[in-house]
Amino acid sequence: MIVDRYNRVHDYLRISLTDRCNLRCFYCMPEESYDFTPMKHLMSATELEIIAGHFVRLGVNKIRLTGGEPMVRSDFGDIILRLAKLPVSLHITTNAILLDRYFDVLRKARIGTLNISLDTLSAEKFKRLTRRDKFDLTMRNIHMALQQGFQVKINMVVMRDFNEDEILDFVAWTKEESLDVRFIEFMPFEGNKWTSNQVFSLKEIVSLVESKHKIQVIEGSLHDTAKHYKISGHKGRFSVISTMSAPFCEGCNRLRLTADGKMKNCLFSKNESDLLSALRDGLPLEPLILQNISTKAEKLGGQFSVDFSKLKQESLKNRSMISIGG
Ligand code: SAM
Ligand code: SF4
Repeated sequence: MIVDRYNRVHDYLRISLTDRCNLRCFYCMPEESYDFTPMKHLMSATELEIIAGHFVRLGVNKIRLTGGEPMVRSDFGDIILRLAKLPVSLHITTNAILLDRYFDVLRKARIGTLNISLDTLSAEKFKRLTRRDKFDLTMRNIHMALQQGFQVKINMVVMRDFNEDEILDFVAWTKEESLDVRFIEFMPFEGNKWTSNQVFSLKEIVSLVESKHKIQVIEGSLHDTAKHYKISGHKGRFSVISTMSAPFCEGCNRLRLTADGKMKNCLFSKNESDLLSALRDGLPLEPLILQNISTKAEKLGGQFSVDFSKLKQESLKNRSMISIGG
């Protein structure tokens, strides 16, 4: 088992397939010219399958594929069908641009949930945020996924003075659709120009929704990153991922593998272990995995505290979100 110094058992692995993307969300991809990782430095489908297999032997039972945009990889279908053979529940986070190409493969791989990113219901704002004109396509694919019966979670990164005025519109969406809208507090990463006053916090989100609806807290489990809420009469629910104002490190069971094969034990960890180079050199991976987990910090990668009000993005040592994998 992969256990850290705080007795947290790690059985959930998030794998980034690529740092490429068909959108350019400003909170994720640095505005300055960003050098994509050359293909030869990314894990191939076979390498990915081998590395994932090592984690599974050490107790991982849940895998999420992310990126960059996982579906821009031309071998995405092959990768997902390979990983579907492992004894794990398999999940995906996507921006939905290419989703309609993969419905059959996703069904075949028995994908659990589709987490789809959508931060605004305005086509104009979508273009400003993602620097691409793909709002209609994204919405069409989200509706298709719902019609086809996939379990959909919508990820909305809330940023003050950008989209907090749309929170109630997203909540209204859960009245007729059985989806989970997840409001995510804006997090700092290299190159994303984060400032603490842009964080629209859990408290603020809940009190805004309470100004219009009577809400009920849904009891969560130890490993939940989200706090869940229900509004009576709504088919769906809403949740808040409060990494900045109320982190959930105590019950953390997550590990990350970047597209270039580096293990990170936290979204904010500075240390990385190069599993891909070890694999290519014929070295055993398990000692590296166990050594890496033994360095996991108690909270937030050891980089900042719950009071984020004085935090400066430049003081963090980390990659950009697009090269970690969200
Ligand atoms: N391309 C896919 C997508 O957008 O869903 C998968 C990768 S993306 C990096 C994964 C998730 O990270 C998305 O839900 C995105 O909104 C979230 N994310 C990216 N940058 C973030 C930030 N600075 N703060 C909070 N969430 C962020
Ligand atoms: Fe691409 Fe997803 Fe990052 Fe947006 S959040 S740039 S869609 S990887």
